[in-house]
Amino acid sequence: MAHSLTQLNTLQLTASCEQLITVTSIHQLEQILPVAKALVLGGGSNIFFAQHYSGTVLHNQIFGYELTHDSEFHYLSVAGGENWHQVVMNCCEMGIGGLENLALIPGSVGAAPIQNIGAYGVELANICVGVDAYSLSSGQKCYFTASQCQFAYRDSMLKRSRDFFISRVYFKLAKNWQPQLSYGELQAWRQQLAGLPSPLDVARQVIKIRQAKLPDHYTIPNAGSFFKNPVLTPSQANKLLTKFPGCPHYPAGENIKIAAGWLIDQLGLKGFSIGGAAVHSKQALVLVNQTQATPEQLIALAAYVRDQVNDKFEIRLEPEVNFIANDGYCTLEQVTNV
Ligand SMILES: Cc1cc2nc3c(=O)[nH]c(=O)nc-3n(C[C@H](O)[C@H](O)[C@H](O)COP(=O)(O)OP(=O)(O)OC[C@H]3O[C@@H](n4cnc5c(N)ncnc54)[C@H](O)[C@@H]3O)c2cc1C
Repeated sequence: MAHSLTQLNTLQLTASCEQLITVTSIHQLEQILPVAKALVLGGGSNIFFAQHYSGTVLHNQIFGYELTHDSEFHYLSVAGGENWHQVVMNCCEMGIGGLENLALIPGSVGAAPIQNIGAYGVELANICVGVDAYSLSSGQKCYFTASQCQFAYRDSMLKRSRDFFISRVYFKLAKNWQPQLSYGELQAWRQQLAGLPSPLDVARQVIKIRQAKLPDHYTIPNAGSFFKNPVLTPSQANKLLTKFPGCPHYPAGENIKIAAGWLIDQLGLKGFSIGGAAVHSKQALVLVNQTQATPEQLIALAAYVRDQVNDKFEIRLEPEVNFIANDGYCTLEQVTNV
C-alpha cells in the first residue's frame, strides 16, 4: 500500500513510499531495525522525491535533550527528531552561543550532520563532537566522533554511507563565546553596533538576512540551495576569475569556493520557469515549486540550469538536494533519464 509523503517534503512534490513508520523512541527503533530497504526522513527540507519510493521511510520523531556544563563548556545532547531552528533559539535564549549563525535552517537535528549544515561562516563541524547512530542494514548501535564523521563542505561519511539512522547529536559550546561575524552582511551589521552582540542578537540578525533573500518554504515550496557552491583548485579559480572578475569567491581550505547563485544569475535565469517549476526571483540558487510543479518539471529545470552554467563557465554544478527514485538514492543524471 502506498503512503503519501506529500506533506513531508518542503518542495511539496506529490510523493509516496511503500511503507511509512513514524519512529518515536529508541526502543521502537531497536525493534524495527534492521530494515532491508530504508530511508530516514526528518523535515524533508533537503530531499527530492522523483518517483514512488519502493522501500520503508523511517520518519524520525524522537525528541528530547540534555544540557550539562563544566567551568569551560556547555555540553548539549539532542535527540535527532528535534527541530534544528528551535534548538538554536532555545540555546540563544539561554545565552549559550555557538549555534546562532545556523538559525532558521529548516529540518531536524538528526539530519544536520548528514550534509554538515552551514551558513554565515559556521558549519555544524565547528560545534559537533559526535553522534549516536544505528546501522539500518545491521541494526548495530554506534557512536561516531566528529573526526570519524569526516565532515566536509556539505558532506560527511554519514552522507556517503547512507546506512545510518542518527538518533542523537552531541555539541560542545564554549562558555567564552565569541561571535563569528566574518560573513559580509554580518560584518556590516557589527560595524553599526556599539557593543558586543549576544548570541540572540546574532540569531535575530541572521533570521532577518535570511528572510530578506530566501523564500519561506511554507509559502513557496523549495529545498533551499538546489546546487552546492562549486569548489575549484586555485588554478581553475584563477582561470575563471580572470575571465569573470566580479564572481564572488571564498577560501575553502587550499581551494576556492565559487558562488553558484552568481553563476546562475549571470545567465539571467532568475524567474525562469518550466511548467510550475521556477528559479526563484530573488535567489538564483533556489529552485521553487511555484505552481504545482511535477518532479519532471523540476528535474528539467535543474538539468537546464546545470547545462547552461556548464556551457558558459565550464563548471558542472552538483546538486545539494538528495534525489530519491523507486529504488532509493540516485543522481540528477539518473533521474533525468528516468
Ligand atoms: C529554505 C531552506 C533553506 C535552507 N538553508 C540551508 C542552509 O543555510 N545551510 C544548509 O546547510 N542547508 C540548508 N537547507 C537544507 C536543509 O535545511 C538541511 O540540509 C537540513 O539539515 C535537512 O534537514 P531535514 O530534517 O529536513 O532532512 P531531510 O530532508 O528529511 O533529509 C535530508 C537527508 O538527510 C537524511 N536524514 C534525515 N534525517 C536523518 C537522520 N536522523 N539520520 C540519518 N539520515 C537522516 C535523509 O535520509 C536525507 O538523505 C535549507 C533548506 C531550505 C528548504
